[in-house]
Amino acid sequence: MSTFDTIVIGAGMSGLTSARMLADAGQSVVVLEGRDRIGGRMHTDRGAGFPVDLGASWIHGIEDSPLWSLVHALRIPAIEYTVGSFQVGGRPIENFDGDGHPMDEAATAQWIADVDMADRLLVEEIAASSPGDTYLDVTERALDRSGFAPERIDDIREFFRHRVEEQCGAWIGDLDAHGLDEDAIEGDEVIFPRGYDELPRRIGSGLDVRLETVVTRVSWSHDGVVVHAGETQYRAARAIVTVPLGVLKAGTIAFEPALPDAVAGPVSRLGMGVFNKVFVQFPERFWNEETYVIRALGEAGEHWHSWYDVSAVSGIPTLLTFAAGPFGRRMQELPDAEIVADAVSALRFLYSDAVGEPLAHWVTRWGEDEFSNGSYSHLALGSTHHDHDALAGPVDEVLHFAGEATWGDEPATVGAAFYSGHRAAERILDRSVDLTEFAARITAREQTEAR
Ligand SMILES: Cc1cc2nc3c(=O)[nH]c(=O)nc-3n(C[C@H](O)[C@H](O)[C@H](O)COP(=O)(O)OP(=O)(O)OC[C@H]3O[C@@H](n4cnc5c(N)ncnc54)[C@H](O)[C@@H]3O)c2cc1C
Repeated sequence: MSTFDTIVIGAGMSGLTSARMLADAGQSVVVLEGRDRIGGRMHTDRGAGFPVDLGASWIHGIEDSPLWSLVHALRIPAIEYTVGSFQVGGRPIENFDGDGHPMDEAATAQWIADVDMADRLLVEEIAASSPGDTYLDVTERALDRSGFAPERIDDIREFFRHRVEEQCGAWIGDLDAHGLDEDAIEGDEVIFPRGYDELPRRIGSGLDVRLETVVTRVSWSHDGVVVHAGETQYRAARAIVTVPLGVLKAGTIAFEPALPDAVAGPVSRLGMGVFNKVFVQFPERFWNEETYVIRALGEAGEHWHSWYDVSAVSGIPTLLTFAAGPFGRRMQELPDAEIVADAVSALRFLYSDAVGEPLAHWVTRWGEDEFSNGSYSHLALGSTHHDHDALAGPVDEVLHFAGEATWGDEPATVGAAFYSGHRAAERILDRSVDLTEFAARITAREQTEAR
């Protein structure tokens, strides 16, 4: 049986960050990864000769962001794309009304003002909400108070529903009233023309990562841990468990003894949502040159409502749309051809014959992925913000948890994964780990290897 200082389970952003920090501090560290690749939910498909980010794409807000500082220090190129989160105004959005007609300037301005007003009322309703209130409850109360005509209310209601689906992967009635409290965007948003998985790859380079090593059991005591992957066992003073919340919820890893309530409680209370991506490439661009996003309101956008122009990455006209929440789960059951045909017919409702036959497509099914069991965590009804950080443990100083679901400030993001990996390493080393030095070590190592 091999013995280490620390075993890290999972080679996504959080696991690789903590493993790198501990290895830099002189620990013997092994990373056990179930997939045949690293990066986890940062997954770039380069099979077509250009990068397609099937998992994370955006940094949602680069102001005062240590994650952005790391990207910057590693000189990873980025493209400004400040509508990655579900915004109503801001960068050019081509809006279509419920009949599929383009909205003129006045109608668009009215729409933005309507949502702004409803959002202000919503903030008040959230502040006044009681435990047990869902996000649906507070939005309905805000809409009741708006005084808008029923058809205007319908459009905003649908917008709110879609916003929750995109940001949380959940149905609006399953989300706690406070489920979007942490959804603030500070500064520009960016995407990555070389593929976002460059970041975990460069952090993880040179680490002892054992791919296709599926952990099935973690036995722990005050003295340390034994981690089982099939017939193979690994022993260490401690482990950092970074598998997604969906995997912890599924119970495919047995903990012996069982996890205490302090950690098991958050695992059962927090929600794991589904958020899938559909990329479609077209022979020609049929939307405006300056458009960032196409958005269909009302009936026209019941399923396929928002289209993000990501042509800048491949140079080929490409739209990215999302299927999230209950629709995202249902969609996963269908074959690709049916999904793409349905999505394209929604676009033809807006642009009729101008929409050419797709050249290529990419469809994700994160909810069916055994190493993820969903896309990212959210505040399901009955959970609290505290549950995220409580999920990190540690348990008896031997079982640490990291990953997006363990970071309450901005869960469901790459930033959360990075910061939670950093926190786990600092807790284990019992000292702070400077992020500027962390980045400098990565580049210094790369320079040495290049020589
Ligand atoms: C479609 C999609 C779009 C997203 N878009 C964005 C975005 O634009 N911006 C953003 O900031 N965030 C986005 N996210 C969220 C972001 O990708 C995640 O928050 C982040 O990558 C999670 O990192 P992690 O280390 O917590 O988990 P993961 O990356 O999931 O890493 C956990 C690792 O554990 C491994 N594992 C699981 N089970 C086992 C096992 N039994 N044994 C061994 N290994 C195991 C997994 O294979 C995985 O590699 C998106 C996510 C999805 C799915």
